[in-house]
Amino acid sequence: MNTPPVKSTPFNFPHMTGKELAYIAEAQLNGQLAGDGPFTKRCHEWLKDNSGCVQALLTHSCTAALEMTALLLDIRAGDEIIMPSYTFVSTANAFVLRGAVPVFVDIREDTLNLDEEKVEAAITSRTRAIVAVHYAGVACNMDRLLMIARIHGLFVVEDAAQGMMARYCGRPLGSIGDLGTLSFHETKNIVSGEGGALLVNDSKLVQRAEIIREKGTDRSRFFRGQVDKYTWQDVGSSFLPGELIAAFLWAQLEEARNITDKRLAIWQRYHAMLEPLEAAGILRRPIVPADCTHNGHLYYVLLPTARARLTTLNKFKRHSIGAVFHYVPLHSSPAGIRYGRCHGSLETTNLQSDRLVRLPLFIGLTDERQEQIVNLLATTSHAT
Ligand SMILES: *Cc1c(COP(=O)(O)O)cnc(C)c1O
Repeated sequence: MNTPPVKSTPFNFPHMTGKELAYIAEAQLNGQLAGDGPFTKRCHEWLKDNSGCVQALLTHSCTAALEMTALLLDIRAGDEIIMPSYTFVSTANAFVLRGAVPVFVDIREDTLNLDEEKVEAAITSRTRAIVAVHYAGVACNMDRLLMIARIHGLFVVEDAAQGMMARYCGRPLGSIGDLGTLSFHETKNIVSGEGGALLVNDSKLVQRAEIIREKGTDRSRFFRGQVDKYTWQDVGSSFLPGELIAAFLWAQLEEARNITDKRLAIWQRYHAMLEPLEAAGILRRPIVPADCTHNGHLYYVLLPTARARLTTLNKFKRHSIGAVFHYVPLHSSPAGIRYGRCHGSLETTNLQSDRLVRLPLFIGLTDERQEQIVNLLATTSHAT
């Protein structure tokens, strides 16, 4: 089994359940290495059963799943897509590839998610979709976003890359909007190295999703015996992973509850230990609204200033601890300026992203290491 390094504390260390290699061997013996074999089918069924989506489709990555959403929703040049600036580049890139314009709206001070109260004012006649990014596995206010989308005839895409096993009002993230995307990248909770899934929640979109994923052909229907030959039907690309990846992922999905519970325990321990530091005004802890059940994806703290963050990060570095900042907001990045536009002030985005630090969180992080991290926070921020 893999174990984290002894001398340093990494930010992340991928957890293996122990069955990954056995399933990969099984996939090899099955003699089918291309996609959509027995392991892929098991993963699809699991994702469907555990999310309530109409259809789940494995992809190479969450990035690939987001690109599929843009194709599936027929996003065209000049279309506008509302999203936070405080997100990963793929949220925007997927739509920019189709010539669309990301419209950046500010985030909420508490969850760092899209501020649903600022979305409506950003809608124009060109707006096609809202992308809800569930930061840290804590859900956006989906009820409000869905209502706004319904009134204005917009699609809702959930970027649930960080949202695996998390819920909003009891509903799994990724299964609430028209489409949802998951990531199984090494840095996420459930991993396959690179990997992702598209969750289709509108039955009208299922058939075309399968076609787009299979190079624009109806090969999926052919394999089910629904057509006697497969042909080029639509635009598409190769978005499906091979069976080796699906076999690895299957070992992780089987343990998804267990993995999530272990991460939640580490998250809770940080949260309890940091309470006095919050009370002393040294930092702010994450806020999880009552209707959100998160998944322990990441633990962050907000320091009083950008300067306090720099001091803290330097101190962590000297102790070989992998505490890290997070997104450089897209509206302040070279490509974000070129391809996107801001709606209103992004004051909260700027403020929060400048003072956020993510703490190491992985299965195998010891109590001692956690205490060391909390002690460093207690002693560093005072000094700034
Ligand atoms: C990780 C992440 C992605 C990209 O996921 P990949 O599987 O690496 O493509 C997209 N959006 C968000 C919010 C992410 O955290």
